Amino acid sequence: MSAGVEYFIEIQQNTLKKMQPHFSCLLCDSTIKTKSKGDAVAVDIARGHLKSSAHKLKYLVSSSLRSCC
Ligand SMILES: [Zn+2]
Repeated sequence: MSAGVEYFIEIQQNTLKKMQPHFSCLLCDSTIKTKSKGDAVAVDIARGHLKSSAHKLKYLVSSSLRSCC
């Protein structure tokens, strides 16, 4: 499990239309949309976000805020 993965949600919008699933990071308040076909690409982008320094920094800040209060 990557750090902050609990803030990451997958949004499925392909019930009626054939839309690619996209991911939303509640921690960074950012949505990651995929342009390419296939779920594997979306997962790769999601993993890349979880490994990004911007995401890790926000995770560290949020976890330190939780522990102090
Ligand atoms: Zn994030």
